[in-house]
Amino acid sequence: MAQSKDFYAVLGVSSGASQEEIKKAYRKLAKKYHPDANASDKKAAERFKEISEANNVLGDAKKRRQYDEMRRLGAFSGGFPGARRSGPPGSGGNSNVNYQEFDLGGLGGLGDLFSSMFGGGAPKQSTRPRGPEKGQSIETNLEIPFRVAARGGKVPIDLEMSEECGICHGNGAAPGAQIRVCSECNGRGVMSFGQGGFAVNRPCPVCLGRGQVPTDRCKTCSGTGEVRARRKVNINVPVGVDTGSKIRLKGQGGKGTANGPAGDLVITFSVKPDRFYTRDGLDVIATVPLNIAQATLGTKINVNTLDNKKVALRIPGGTPSGKRFRVRGQGIEKGALRGDLIIEVSIAVPEKLSEEQERMMKEFADAGGLKY
Ligand SMILES: [Zn+2]
Ligand SMILES: [Zn+2]
Repeated sequence: MAQSKDFYAVLGVSSGASQEEIKKAYRKLAKKYHPDANASDKKAAERFKEISEANNVLGDAKKRRQYDEMRRLGAFSGGFPGARRSGPPGSGGNSNVNYQEFDLGGLGGLGDLFSSMFGGGAPKQSTRPRGPEKGQSIETNLEIPFRVAARGGKVPIDLEMSEECGICHGNGAAPGAQIRVCSECNGRGVMSFGQGGFAVNRPCPVCLGRGQVPTDRCKTCSGTGEVRARRKVNINVPVGVDTGSKIRLKGQGGKGTANGPAGDLVITFSVKPDRFYTRDGLDVIATVPLNIAQATLGTKINVNTLDNKKVALRIPGGTPSGKRFRVRGQGIEKGALRGDLIIEVSIAVPEKLSEEQERMMKEFADAGGLKY
């Protein structure tokens, strides 16, 4: 139901009416068509909506001036440059402008419409990129070695992000190109899709939501106003992060447009499994293999701590597999807390014995050394 809306006609006043006259006309009509007074009358509800919409614009002196300006430019009679919004591009379509979807959200929508059409002046005004926008926020996963997770450290990452094109500064126009009001969306920057009660507004595919199109597109960004940029960022990994830990680095995401703030960088860590260490809360568990003789007779071993220091550990004779030894304070630090390094011995049974070893093992067994 595209329709040419003449808000003056809707309220039944002349275009020269005073604000007071408009207010009066609106009150009278609103009373007559108010849904409370016309419970089951759909037409009255339609009409009431129309009246409210007209009053929202004409009742506000500033919006009324903008509306008048649009009328003057022919936005409602087909004279407006490319005042076509329905039908496929190039079909000519019809010249009616329907702002119905904008009153769904109340006044704000219509106000935005005007400001996007006249963004700081008149449509003839040249190059006007979108207002300041926050840069792209980037989420990424970062795999880090166990030691870095436990002790903290710096890890460089390569990020790929969208940034404002440096050549056209985001407006998508080639240097020297002229900017025209987008004929696809009439400069609104949005198109409405869907039928029935609800229309969904989407950014206009032709002007990409700007409401304006250049006569010549920027070659660097193909008119999108954005380029993919690669950036190296050194991530300070906090001490004691675990798989799933997140950090948010404010302002480390994509650059904002038109002096808008940069986006954030959100990093989710994933800790690479280590050959030697596992983690249990703040404790770090190191598994150390012992052979049967070492476990049976006792021995001395050296174990590397997370900081690559050697800790000497005496293993007493008769140590069973799985036995744990605790080295205090050599685990993961968190605030005032510090976990321990737990050394767990694992007894390796030889798969192959030399003839001599086999003979001795048999002798050992025969001597009654094995009780079970
Ligand atoms: Zn560009
Ligand atoms: Zn457009």
